[in-house]
Amino acid sequence: MTETRQYGFDTLQIHAGARPDPATGARQTPIYQTTAYVFRDAEHAAALFNLQEVGYIYSRLTNPTVAVLQERIATLEGGAGAVCCSSGHAAQIMALFPLMQPGCNIVASSRLYGGTITQFSQTIKRFGWSCTFVDFDDLDAVKAAINDETRAIFGEAIANPGGWIMDVRAVADIADAAGIPLIIDNTTATPYLVRPIEHGATLVVHSTTKYLTGNGTVTGGCVVDSGRFDWSASDKFPSLSQAEPAYHGLKFHETFGNLAFTFHSIAVGLRDLGMTMNPQAAHYTLCGIETLSLRMERHVQNAETVAGWLEKHPAVDHVTYAGLASSPYNALAKKVCPKGAGGLFTIALKGGYDACVKFVDSLEIFSHVANLGDARSLVIHSASTTHRQLSPEQQAAAGASPDVVRISIGIEDADDLIADLDQALEKVS
Ligand SMILES: *Cc1c(COP(=O)(O)O)cnc(C)c1O
Repeated sequence: MTETRQYGFDTLQIHAGARPDPATGARQTPIYQTTAYVFRDAEHAAALFNLQEVGYIYSRLTNPTVAVLQERIATLEGGAGAVCCSSGHAAQIMALFPLMQPGCNIVASSRLYGGTITQFSQTIKRFGWSCTFVDFDDLDAVKAAINDETRAIFGEAIANPGGWIMDVRAVADIADAAGIPLIIDNTTATPYLVRPIEHGATLVVHSTTKYLTGNGTVTGGCVVDSGRFDWSASDKFPSLSQAEPAYHGLKFHETFGNLAFTFHSIAVGLRDLGMTMNPQAAHYTLCGIETLSLRMERHVQNAETVAGWLEKHPAVDHVTYAGLASSPYNALAKKVCPKGAGGLFTIALKGGYDACVKFVDSLEIFSHVANLGDARSLVIHSASTTHRQLSPEQQAAAGASPDVVRISIGIEDADDLIADLDQALEKVS
């Protein structure tokens, strides 16, 4: 596309990063199913390895199909660059990797995807990193948790599983004052509903497994860099600001400017951690992203209808959907995500754990699966599955107590979804 005008979101979700294949004219982005790329000559090969010329070497690092997806997501998020990887969890490690050293910590919201809480509270300790969890509704607590070794703040714009809203701008201001980046997991919001970089975020991570792909076919992840953080303003980020020993002393920030993080993530992160997205996965996600805005509109419309209906049902104790006027997050939702509060929320059943299990087993259209953001409506009983590894206190803090069921509203007919929920709640009451 010629960059002579500012294209709208619907145009960019189809065209950004892509052009007809120069070799064949193929209109859809081909799946470049290849491991390696022939060098023009030895000099070309050396220039590529020295990062003096940008090109393809080996598909652990870069691949033309994956590159189109990277550019598309970076464009939709308003970032300078992006790197795709094998899953959302891989993206989180890839986001932290250039920032952290042994002894460093991050400050994260206590309301996160259950797997992320486990990754941050347990697994990253093996790298010598640690995480302090705080309630992001309490901005003073966020400030108080930051110390000299803190290298990032991490939160979800629309938090899993309850669909609670984070005041991204307010936390970004705290990160700015501390001279550290804010990383936003934008999986459940998608750039159609929230563009965290516009609210001051430095990095945006995605599980592309969810809404971006949109039909439950492939796992994938992405890290988008805003390109706005000054990595050289302090000595906190030596991998980016100083000579990187893992790339023969290259100074990434000095050499690549606002693309320093992206280049580091490819040249060191993917090279050494190997959490690469494969071109087949990139293809499925590219196809899915073409209809992102249309699907998100329907997810929101259905979620508003279904959540409103559930809220009035006598078997339901409460519904967490931020799009409901009754939600304490409703005003913040209007500010952070004016197009809608997404398609994900939880309900608490008056009958507790047993009622939840019966309810989940009685549904017919809704599938009981450990996924969200599918075109299909999905449910899961978080306490016995995704949040099972957590302590009861962590479960409660994460909004995944035993009486809670997570609902990911799909794009089916809202009337059919309500009829299904109605018959299942009937069995519970
Ligand atoms: C699913 C999910 C992840 C993890 O992504 P995977 O692709 O499953 O590794 C991270 N964050 C959120 C909010 C998610 O929903």
